[in-house]
Amino acid sequence: MVTAIVGANWGDEGKGKITDMLGQESDIIVRFQGGSNAGHTIINNYGKFALHLLPSGVFYDHTTSIIGNGVALNIPDLVREVNDLVEKGVPKPKLYVSDRAQIVMPYHKLFDQYEEERLAGKSFGSTKSGIAPFYSDKYAKIGFQVSELFEEEAILKEKIDRVCAQKNVILEHLYHKPLIDTEELYNTLMEYKAMVEPFVCDTSQFLHDAIAEGKNILLEGQLGSLKDPDFGIYPMVTSSSTLAAYGAIGAGIPPYEIKDIVVVVKAYSSAVGAGEFVSEIFGEEADELRKRGGDGGEYGATTGRPRRMGWFDCVASRYGCRVQGATEIAFTVLDVLGYLDELPVCVGYEIDGKVTKDFPTTKDLKKAKPVYKVLPGWKQEIKGIRNYDELPENCKKYIEFIEAEIGVPVTMVSNGPGREDIIYRGKRKK
Ligand code: GDP
Repeated sequence: MVTAIVGANWGDEGKGKITDMLGQESDIIVRFQGGSNAGHTIINNYGKFALHLLPSGVFYDHTTSIIGNGVALNIPDLVREVNDLVEKGVPKPKLYVSDRAQIVMPYHKLFDQYEEERLAGKSFGSTKSGIAPFYSDKYAKIGFQVSELFEEEAILKEKIDRVCAQKNVILEHLYHKPLIDTEELYNTLMEYKAMVEPFVCDTSQFLHDAIAEGKNILLEGQLGSLKDPDFGIYPMVTSSSTLAAYGAIGAGIPPYEIKDIVVVVKAYSSAVGAGEFVSEIFGEEADELRKRGGDGGEYGATTGRPRRMGWFDCVASRYGCRVQGATEIAFTVLDVLGYLDELPVCVGYEIDGKVTKDFPTTKDLKKAKPVYKVLPGWKQEIKGIRNYDELPENCKKYIEFIEAEIGVPVTMVSNGPGREDIIYRGKRKK
């Protein structure tokens, strides 16, 4: 069976932890989109890890990890991550990389950086990992597939010359930066080839066979619904689809095989980078939540940037779950909220004097003001609780209020960063 694990919000919902946890009962874990721009933080018996490209299931010796065709593959980053795990005592992962995945080229990172410099104050808040230039090139049909590393030398060199002729015009005239040396680029690609060769395979075929054998497969999404290029807060979005539906494409499997869509919803809001964020809070209130949030504070796993903080947003989360096609919710980082006397929850947006519960396009989102309902706090540590019934009354009320607002069952409540910090409910209850 195929299960997708995806985010409902701006990312950083705790997908890594849920994937790591559900990985226990899985055979294969697939990354299907994005690149090494965002990160998952995972804490388990080997230590604390920030994964950027590897799927969060790499810590088990019974799982196979797959980098699907939809991923922006940064080959040196991937190899670095694998080596880091092995150095820290994790068994060498069984890893396959799709022969159809495309490669993040050294110049993609530079273009990302140069464009942010050029836009200065109007930048997109990119992590400068080359993701936007990478996906632009993929769809402009000037990207490089892993399979092309195995092309004849003359054919690959001809393509490098053709692509770089265009890149160099932009480097010279728009950015006023050094040009790409095509010979050096070819040599770099040959280094990439040697690095990636042991992992390359037709992963779509591999997954097809695994599905036929009845294997358990997890598709692990990066970021969340609100960063999707179509359904998110465009243009402050990422450059590949963050939706479960795209899992079929980015992994190369039939869409009807995705039977379960676990949407990870965070008990409060946080976001990295610029863009609309209606329930954002500021000042001391935000600092307190940031300091207490996640595991050791809300700071980006890739960039270390302080995350923007906010109250729970029912409008955004309901929409985020809808566009994902959520079949169940994993509600995370709830333990963090135990210090609050009251918890404001955003239940509507006021736009031009009218209150709506529907998430609008960016044009209207810019004008939206949050409408809050205030729920009582539970003022208690909930870490360590394993049974839903043992949660404080007001904590259960918070969960059930949000569940009713979203309209999708909360089957998992995460009350700590560790694998064992989880409360199962409903169909997941053992
Ligand atoms: P992801 O990209 O969606 O996997 O999210 P991140 O890894 O960027 O951020 C989630 C952070 O919250 C990580 O530091 C996790 O260790 C931590 N985390 C996940 N679930 C919980 C939870 O239930 N409680 C607490 N306190 N931290 C959690």
